[in-house]
Amino acid sequence: MCKYELEIVKSMNMKDKIQKDQVPFGKTFTDHMFIMDYETGKGWYDPRIVPYAPITLDPAAMIFHYGQTVFEGMKAYRGEDNRILLFRPDKNFQRLNLSSERLCIPPIDVERVMDYLTQLISLEQDWVPSKEGTSLYIRPYIISTEPGLAVAPSQTYKLMIILAPVGSYFSGGIKPVRISVEDQFTRAVKGGTGMAKTAGNYSSGFQAQAKASKEGNADVLWLDGVEKRYIEEVGSMNIFFKINGEIVTPELNGSILKGITRMSIIELLKEWGIPVVERKISIEELSQAYTEGHLEEAFGTGTAAVISPVGELNWLGRKMIINNNEIGEVSKKLYDTITGIQTGKIEDLHDWTVEI
Ligand code: PMP
Repeated sequence: MCKYELEIVKSMNMKDKIQKDQVPFGKTFTDHMFIMDYETGKGWYDPRIVPYAPITLDPAAMIFHYGQTVFEGMKAYRGEDNRILLFRPDKNFQRLNLSSERLCIPPIDVERVMDYLTQLISLEQDWVPSKEGTSLYIRPYIISTEPGLAVAPSQTYKLMIILAPVGSYFSGGIKPVRISVEDQFTRAVKGGTGMAKTAGNYSSGFQAQAKASKEGNADVLWLDGVEKRYIEEVGSMNIFFKINGEIVTPELNGSILKGITRMSIIELLKEWGIPVVERKISIEELSQAYTEGHLEEAFGTGTAAVISPVGELNWLGRKMIINNNEIGEVSKKLYDTITGIQTGKIEDLHDWTVEI
């Protein structure tokens, strides 16, 4: 058998799909998963779709010790006409390779893995929910599997893809959230791993998120790690502000994730003739714009939350209520357009969607 030929082993024990519209985010998984192995000198080999089940690893596997791992997050949407659509999946796999490069993990062949993913979703198509705001969340990830405690890159890896039906991120649809500006902890620094989707960036944010959550915030807004001045991003979203009619978002500086939603809405805003700039923006500048009445909207963007308006921003005891804690005009238009394209309700003039 060719080392690239996909083997499919079907589950004999299919799960009940009834609850697929109401499950909490990322808690229920489909019947099958994709696995492929890597070994130095051999490359990626043995792609297979197998029943979803625990895997066995050596306790010394490097993933457990030094966190050499990368992941992605994307979604399959059910269109009104029952079609299943992916949104810019090539960008996710390209970003996986960028993350891998930073973590010294070997790259994957994007086209080949896209083909394996298509076959996995075809097999699991009944798991793609159809209620508004729901989707099948796709989690590709690579773990280092070589047993050994030497601090060095692994010689063996596993690429896996698991699928989880997910409900609407917000129970009542799009709703403004409360965010606190983190002034103590740092997520990423220039030269670090901030632009990579790797485990350590997320676990190192937990303490700040727990603190923010205790104070009633949905998430934290990270500032740069050196001066603690310049705005970076929210936990799993990029951030945008509308100041005096202009949309501003922090420029990609190496410590911010290059969001695919971010990239898409910048393109849409430009097409609509709405001024949009990517630049450094300090928290002082934002606070001053708020004082002067120029901070008109704030919203986060990401695969999970799509467009999430920020209704309240808390910074060093200062409470900024943005747009009366209501959904802004630009946020709403972007939400409707992006979700419309993702579900095939709006014609995809950009070739962003891929049909399964
Ligand atoms: N920033 C971080 C840290 C994230 O984890 C995510 C989610 N992938 C985003 C931004 C948004 O990226 P995307 O639009 O590609 O989901």
